[in-house]
Amino acid sequence: MSDTDTRDPTSLRTPIVAVLGHVDHGKTSLLDKIRGSAVIEGEAGAITQHIGATAVPLDIISSIAGDLVDPEDFDLPGLLFIDTPGHHSFTTLRSRGGALADIAILVVDVNDGFQPQTLEALDILKRSQTPFIVAANKIDTVPGWNANEDEPINDTYESQSERVRQRLDEELYEIIGNLSDEGFSADLYWRVQNFQRNIGVVPVSAMTGEGVPDLLTVMMGLSQRYMKEEMEIDVAGPGVGTVLEVKEEKGFGTTVDTVLYDGTIRADDKIVVGGQNEPIVTDVRALLQPRPLAEIRTESRFEKVDEVGAAAGIKIAAPDLADAMAGAPVRVVRDRDLDEVIEEVQAELADIAVDTAEEGVVVKADTLGSLEAMADALGEAEVPIVRAEVGDVAPRDVSVASTADDPKQKAILGFNVDTLDDAEQRAEIEDVTIFTDEVIYQLIEGYEEYVEEIEQAQQDTILENISRPARFRILPDHTFRQNDPAVVGVEVNSGTLRNNTNVVKFEGNEPERVGQVKGIQEQGEDIDEARSGNRVSVAIDGPTVGRQIEEDDELWAEIPEKHAKILEQELASEIPGDELEALNMYLDKQRSRDPFWGK
Ligand code: GDP
Repeated sequence: MSDTDTRDPTSLRTPIVAVLGHVDHGKTSLLDKIRGSAVIEGEAGAITQHIGATAVPLDIISSIAGDLVDPEDFDLPGLLFIDTPGHHSFTTLRSRGGALADIAILVVDVNDGFQPQTLEALDILKRSQTPFIVAANKIDTVPGWNANEDEPINDTYESQSERVRQRLDEELYEIIGNLSDEGFSADLYWRVQNFQRNIGVVPVSAMTGEGVPDLLTVMMGLSQRYMKEEMEIDVAGPGVGTVLEVKEEKGFGTTVDTVLYDGTIRADDKIVVGGQNEPIVTDVRALLQPRPLAEIRTESRFEKVDEVGAAAGIKIAAPDLADAMAGAPVRVVRDRDLDEVIEEVQAELADIAVDTAEEGVVVKADTLGSLEAMADALGEAEVPIVRAEVGDVAPRDVSVASTADDPKQKAILGFNVDTLDDAEQRAEIEDVTIFTDEVIYQLIEGYEEYVEEIEQAQQDTILENISRPARFRILPDHTFRQNDPAVVGVEVNSGTLRNNTNVVKFEGNEPERVGQVKGIQEQGEDIDEARSGNRVSVAIDGPTVGRQIEEDDELWAEIPEKHAKILEQELASEIPGDELEALNMYLDKQRSRDPFWGK
């Protein structure tokens, strides 16, 4: 930097906070509480409502936190809370390959403890290496709780009876234990020395506001201490952000709700936005923010602004945004080279792109980030993907899925998306199964169950159509008819003798087909098959007793080589033990002649 340039172009931006946790554990209530407290403390106007986010400035945090926070200790400007809670929006919110949220709050209901989405959220936090704290919520529901609205946890804890305290401690330690089971070393936040190594647990009530001062203090401290460097941005530089949502807006056409995490965006900027097919290059028509509540009666809910700096949530209206995708990057061009910016956007998209195979299932998700999370999870489950896209399940997807050769792949897995009516009808006709869910692992489990059912059905039909091993012996003095057909009494030694099976006799190790079973009777009744141990009479078309076959001969159900191979390699675990025994004896005989028989 030259001596004459004394400006400091960098400044600290607001850390972006996401709230995650299981459904009904209190994510929305907690955000509402924080917003509500902020409004009260700031009187009207001091907190700014962004598009999709709420900014709580440092001075408001310090007045909510009271003695816990001295604003002098901080130079980050506050916290920007993403309004849509849940890991769905968390996975959407990404920047340059990482999570866009700088820090997260994982909400856990103290009564309900760890639940599927808690685990899923932890998994996402682990993967994205996002620092987080745990809000142990609903402490006011501990029986006998004496509520002290908006008090710090220590004060309200002191005012509880011994029994209530004990009960809360138990619940908190259970959560700490659960975290440890998942590989996180955690403790109550006031015992944590190093928040990078240990997860702080903050007891709170989103209902009474107890512990909320602590929560904000810890978030602020954590950001200040460990993330200050990452918060240094070039404020005046061209803005960089991530699309949170693509929305039709009356009077503005398609708009993108965007979280800006670097630089500024101006109302006359050219921008590049990640699209379904290619980066979209377009000119901003308007930058929109929510109109303050007091003025909402005017014609539009939005107010145009000239410029916004990171971190902020902003609605961008511009032409040609129809193909924009939630989770895609947004970059301001301004005085940069357009091709370079396009390349950057392409590179970011490629980074999120899902590897697809020649054959596999169709995957749909609501955002790029969640699509990637789905692909990761499916990769782990070893489920190949033929096509992965952002958007609702459409007839086009059904067409793709219907071309799969493998019935297991005639499936569409939709995460957090709807199924269009005509897609549903089409799927029924084309025999495509659509799975949708809002929890990734449940979605995959549902699909895996379906795969198992199909595999079972496939094996059942194979077993139906395959020759089954059987060894049987002609009983002495049990020739009822010499020939045309020969009718003899037999005992099945192992396996299952079925009607219409070809019969083989081994001369040494040379198999010789002697005829075909043309009827089995047990005590005068016709039956389809005889099991090991049964004594039955059998009509065999072909041989004459005394010539090709004799009393006391050992006979076999013939197993074609191909069937023997399937039986040995794929169905060995499906057939009864005595049948397997017959199969192995049969294979031994065949292989003593030809070692590669049936391999
Ligand atoms: P979300 O699905 O995680 O966003 O959960 P919500 O914020 O919608 O909360 C689910 C339910 O729990 C609602 O009925 C809330 O009123 C209730 N709730 C949330 N936080 C608290 C709390 O701290 N104490 C009590 N008693 N109820 C709570």
